[in-house]
Amino acid sequence: MLVLGIESSCDETGVALVRAADQGIPRLLSHALHSQVDMHQAYGGVVPELASRDHIRRLLPLARQVFDAAGCGLSEVDVIAYTRGPGLAGALLVGAGGACALAASLGKPVLGIHHLEGHLLSPFLSVDPPQFPFVALLVSGGHTQLMRVDGVGAYELLGETVDDAAGEAFDKSAKLLGLGYPGGPQLSRLAEFGDPSTFDLPRPLLHSGTLDFSFAGLKTAVWTQVRKLGTNVCEQDRAHLAAATQAAIVEVLLKKSLAALKQTGLKRLVVAGGVGANRSLREQLDLACGKRGIRVHYPELALCTDNGAMIALAAAMRLQAGRSRAVRDYAFDVKPRWELAAV
Ligand code: ATP
Ligand code: MG
Ligand code: FE
Repeated sequence: MLVLGIESSCDETGVALVRAADQGIPRLLSHALHSQVDMHQAYGGVVPELASRDHIRRLLPLARQVFDAAGCGLSEVDVIAYTRGPGLAGALLVGAGGACALAASLGKPVLGIHHLEGHLLSPFLSVDPPQFPFVALLVSGGHTQLMRVDGVGAYELLGETVDDAAGEAFDKSAKLLGLGYPGGPQLSRLAEFGDPSTFDLPRPLLHSGTLDFSFAGLKTAVWTQVRKLGTNVCEQDRAHLAAATQAAIVEVLLKKSLAALKQTGLKRLVVAGGVGANRSLREQLDLACGKRGIRVHYPELALCTDNGAMIALAAAMRLQAGRSRAVRDYAFDVKPRWELAAV
């Protein structure tokens, strides 16, 4: 089975080809990605209408690229998968419309995929793939969730953020520190030069006894510190504050993940989503889980943020597991808001 996957939920256009047998982990044949970061940077965040228009421009050239790289043709595709939600409505419509138009012209079936299921399953494409069941820490730009995952499509929500997502906390704090968009990677680079103990920042809900998160207060605390430091803040203080911000986010993610593992009794943790690329988070999770005999699995660094490979993979795994059926019905819709546990 050859699956073409299309991702367009936000500011990355991703296309990929995955080959799957009846069983076993699907194999990534090729993937291509265009990030719109440079385009949105001038506005300090994603401009939805610009995002949609750019997806239109990028989709077909990227598709040609993946077919060339894989050495196969459009007619060999068995299923065309696309991100159905959650995400920006206009951006999703471009991917869904493109996928369905292509599929209609070829008479191939289509399958809409939940973006977070893509993130969640992406570690299966790594050199060290996980096995079910596991606890998943989903940390992206729009979501922060702990899930119990018993198999493809068997997702139980254990806890989630009540306000900002972890990636959002990184991005908003980075903005307050005068860093560009998206701020997560930049903040974490600046943090390398700082001492996290210089500033005392809150760890919201750390001792709440639940597996929920809250990051809005952290952003406010960073803002307060930035104001106290004033306009002539030196580079070293910015680095200290970046380090303290990262330490606060990482500590909460670490402690809640350990609590979820304890609560479920599971011995495997899967980390997915853009914040999963954060080095400090990886180091601390590896250390703490190593001591407890818990295996931690991550996506390849290139597949932590949005990409088409995870969408093609999720489609292939859903079809293998009999959780979904691809259909020759091209009357598509998108779901800008969509709970993963409802999939
Ligand atoms: P969602 O998947 O919830 O719809 P999204 O697709 O925008 O949101 P991702 O693409 O998974 O999110 O991840 C992007 C987020 O990851 C951004 O907030 C970005 O700052 C953050 N991020 C990426 N790399 C790092 C890093 N090294 N350290 C911290 N944060 C990072
Ligand atoms: Mg993005
Ligand atoms: Fe994402």
